[in-house]
Amino acid sequence: MAKRVESPSSINTFKQCRRKYYYQYIEKLPTFPNIHTVRGNIAHSCLEHFYDIDASSFTQENFKQKCREAVQKLLLHQWGAYKKEVEGLKLSQDQLRFYFEETMLMLINWVNQFLEKLEETTRKKQISLQEAFMYLTPVREMEYTSNNYSVRGFIDAIQHLEDEVHIIDYKTNSSLEVKDSIRLQLAIYSLLYFEKHGKLPSKAGIFFLRHKLKLVPVDEELLALAKKEIELIHAHTSTTETKEDYPKTVTPLCKWNGGQCDFYEVCKPHG
Ligand code: SF4
Repeated sequence: MAKRVESPSSINTFKQCRRKYYYQYIEKLPTFPNIHTVRGNIAHSCLEHFYDIDASSFTQENFKQKCREAVQKLLLHQWGAYKKEVEGLKLSQDQLRFYFEETMLMLINWVNQFLEKLEETTRKKQISLQEAFMYLTPVREMEYTSNNYSVRGFIDAIQHLEDEVHIIDYKTNSSLEVKDSIRLQLAIYSLLYFEKHGKLPSKAGIFFLRHKLKLVPVDEELLALAKKEIELIHAHTSTTETKEDYPKTVTPLCKWNGGQCDFYEVCKPHG
């Protein structure tokens, strides 16, 4: 059986519940968007396009306002671009307003921290605002595919700073903890980066949009974690596609207050 091309998300699903992996990636049953995934995509699109703004008119007096306005306009624009997905969620106007405002606060939090970094860069490197903006502009939404490991992933931002490279993922999560699943995601990105560029990124991290950037050092141990989990999933999924070989892991993630696993009805974990 050929190896399936896995991703951090499919590997974490496999680790959480093998039956869920079976429904999603082998039977390919549909999944259902929810406000957290949709607004996550909206926030990602805003941050991807933020760096396309015209910095040539920045002055010491106006650059903060211009950046904040840019992010606000981007959110309005992207919320409209995702209108079909947002309306499909069938949320009340009050709920939609709440999530829109909450997303706006996250983006303003992010832009405020970007502005601090922009000022610090102009000061430390004695360069103009425009040069600092260029310097801080990351490579965005880069797809990495490894035929060797049969894995692929999209890295949200790759930042080249002096002699350091940071790979960064944005998250709108309410939990601000670098959980095992996040650590594994960063490990896989680091491995993909290493394979393509022949050198390790210095750090990998998550920009929690409700809070701040959290970076972890990239070392051999992190790469070993990625290799181990990739090997484990291929060893299983390339030998069987029988449902019974993908047992259920019944946890509070099957059903919780206000939500349930996409496959809850077909899976019937509680009988
Ligand atoms: S409902 Fe629970 S046991 Fe069933 S697939 Fe989803 S997570 Fe796994």
